Amino acid sequence: MEKYDELLKFTSKYGQQHLLKYWPELDEEGRDRLYSSIKSIDFDKSFKAYSGDSREASSEFSLSDVSPIEVIEKPDESAELGKKYYEKGIEVIKKGGVIAVTMAGGQGSRLGHEGPKGTFDMGLPTHKSLFELQVDQLSSIHENTGAYVHLYIMTSEINHNQTVEFFEANGYFGYPKDKISFFCQNMIPVFDRNGNMMLSAKDKVVTAADGNGGIFSALESGGVFSSEDGKKAAFIYISQIDNCLAELCDPIFIGCAALTGKSCLTKTLMKAGPDEKAGVYCVKNGRPCVVEYTEVPKDMAELKDSNGEFVFGDVNAGIYVFKKSVLEHASNRGLPYHKYVKKTERLDENGKPFKPEVPDCIKLEMFLFDIFEYIDDVTAFRIKREDEFAPIKNATGVDSPATARNLYYRKFRIPMGKIAELDGDEMTRVVWQKIKDIVLEPYIRLNTEYYDLSITNRDATDDKVTVEAANAIKRLKVGVKCATITPNAQRLEEYKLKKLWRSPNATLREILDGTVFRAPVIADGIKPLVSGWKKPIVIARHAYGDVYAAKETAVKKGSKVCISVTDPDGTVTNIPVHDFERSSGIVSGMHNEDDSIRSFARSCMSFSLSCGLDLWFSSKDTVSKTYDHRFKDIFEEVFENEYRKSFEDKGITYFYTLIDDAVARVVRSEGGFVWACKNYDGDVFSDMLAACFGSLSMMTSVLVSPDGCFEYEAAHGTIPKHYKKYLAGEPTSTNPIATLFAWTGALRKRGELDGNVFLIDFADRTERATLKLVGEGRMTGDLVRLSSCENKVTLDLDGFLGEIAKHIYD
Ligand code: NAP
Ligand code: MG
Repeated sequence: MEKYDELLKFTSKYGQQHLLKYWPELDEEGRDRLYSSIKSIDFDKSFKAYSGDSREASSEFSLSDVSPIEVIEKPDESAELGKKYYEKGIEVIKKGGVIAVTMAGGQGSRLGHEGPKGTFDMGLPTHKSLFELQVDQLSSIHENTGAYVHLYIMTSEINHNQTVEFFEANGYFGYPKDKISFFCQNMIPVFDRNGNMMLSAKDKVVTAADGNGGIFSALESGGVFSSEDGKKAAFIYISQIDNCLAELCDPIFIGCAALTGKSCLTKTLMKAGPDEKAGVYCVKNGRPCVVEYTEVPKDMAELKDSNGEFVFGDVNAGIYVFKKSVLEHASNRGLPYHKYVKKTERLDENGKPFKPEVPDCIKLEMFLFDIFEYIDDVTAFRIKREDEFAPIKNATGVDSPATARNLYYRKFRIPMGKIAELDGDEMTRVVWQKIKDIVLEPYIRLNTEYYDLSITNRDATDDKVTVEAANAIKRLKVGVKCATITPNAQRLEEYKLKKLWRSPNATLREILDGTVFRAPVIADGIKPLVSGWKKPIVIARHAYGDVYAAKETAVKKGSKVCISVTDPDGTVTNIPVHDFERSSGIVSGMHNEDDSIRSFARSCMSFSLSCGLDLWFSSKDTVSKTYDHRFKDIFEEVFENEYRKSFEDKGITYFYTLIDDAVARVVRSEGGFVWACKNYDGDVFSDMLAACFGSLSMMTSVLVSPDGCFEYEAAHGTIPKHYKKYLAGEPTSTNPIATLFAWTGALRKRGELDGNVFLIDFADRTERATLKLVGEGRMTGDLVRLSSCENKVTLDLDGFLGEIAKHIYD
């Protein structure tokens, strides 16, 4: 009974003996728990805090009581001053002059995440947690300076153990274990309306973390100041775990603090509008402070200077650097507690768990910025919002993982390996630039070798540019091409060309020895004419020989026609074709080459593998027992010798059938395969498929060489009709989808070849965002005619691309 007596004596002193009500019911362990729960509380301090021995922070004031806080604009790293700060910051870091503190006491429950907020995966393709992203930053500081900044993580009673276990389980993300420490924020009891402490269980007093201002006493009680690195440091950097863009120990920030000698720099951002719900910095009654937005008088909120900027517009970003000496001194003085009425779960008078409907308890919290009461030279260090501020607070909407991802990628922009970029003509050239400006550049550090295949440049370079571009695709393995004009007599005149240049696509195909695959883009609401088709049917056309390279002639009645073959050794064989004894007529001599057919087979098989689709091939081998049969045999041979194993590994099949059977099967299928066709079949059926899938503007095309080079483009042309309107200043509702998907195809392929998961993720997300938009009924004019969506909205080109860009990282 020793413990009971001790507790009774102690609690009675404060009138809190009801906390022992369940002692008789508790077993030995329960009693121990209650004992330590009670003994961990500083009763003196708690009651002082409760009974209002704390200054009330909020009080009425007017514009005449406040003046703006001193501001330093963060200089650019390339500017003179920025360089000076940066170098100083690096010097401080190298000497161990700064430690980093992360406030991570919160849980991820508002994000629908169980566990500490720092363990939250914000949806990057690497699935890194917020903690890992922070450690990564310090790792790159180490790469830069050779010094390990010590990271101190402030946890809370609820997540301390889980946090430490998370770091243990993940090997401290490659950072030295002795350079990451954890300290726990202090707890304070929650009081009922009558000023009494409560029980959350029969063996536990209700307590809660003591607010972000508790960090200072926790730095002391958690041993940070007295730790080896803490003792060495002259500066303490503090930021929050939920800001995924916070630049830990930003050298410019640290260097500025060191060179200006300010006791505290606090990062601020300009508020977005007069009504933004965020506290602003000012000097009130001679003291620097943050005023809650609810307390800011209207005239103060709206006041602007001669440059049109808010005079009181500096919003708190929650990122600070303090001189340690100042902090040690100030934190000893203690901060005031602010009272809140809150809902708190607890035991009712019958010892049953009780969840109040309305706020009915008093919670006490300290505010971090109340420390400014003790510090004279607090200076705002104004940053650009988009550079360093992306908090994750809500599951959806503002400050959510989606908004944070968007800001994250806009800041870092995905680096990539090089691809060949082939620009083109007319309306598609306009679309091309807009896609780059609006959708790609904001998120990707585009890395292309640029070739201008516009008709004027092809003419100026005697079409050498096309050959160079083809060789670039061979070298880089990946290219993306804009539609180009294939000149005809009218174009010759229109552009005053030197001659009728070849079709660039024919040149590319020839140099790459490639096969063209055409694939429709399928979106909700745009139903294929064949209702059973659910997935794309990719069609491959062997674009060499057969009827397209045939020699033909008219034949008089009474003529005899034969094929005459001269072997290398001079032997001549004549094969009779037809005796025209009944009538005059026509003949055609067709050919194909085994090597070309073999390349075609290889291209089809590597393409099927690369997109994981079954491959069908069809010809008329029953009738054409030598000609078409050779196609069948070569496909068979290439498959058996080179691809069977990889197809099996990937779980896809190769399947040969007669062309008539193939047509019937294609129509009855649900899609989702590659259909390899001979030249003529491919010509006819690719147009049929394009028409059945909806629109030319939704058809993409890939040229694949047998050695694995990929060139992506839209199947449509340069859309001259739209270009005329565009030049006349009229809005056009040109559909950019096929051209955009040519880009995403090329980026995805580049990503796959380089193992760049960010680039692959970008391509996937961009396509998804595009299809989602169309599925929701927001589309360009050409699709509005085809879509079965209700509430369709027609967007112009810029509007459509802008919407896509906005939602890529949703
Ligand atoms: P086109 O440029 O594909 O345009 C034909 C019509 O299809 C357009 O007038 C338009 O119909 C519709 N259309 C095509 N793409 C569209 C899109 N993205 N958004 C909205 N509507 C779209 O074919 P063309 O007029 O026969 O050829 C024009 C030039 O392109 C020629 O010089 C040709 O040589 C060249 N071409 C190049 C390639 C290539 O580089 N791969 C391929 C084909 C043609 P509405 O007018 O009804 O809106
Ligand atoms: Mg055709």
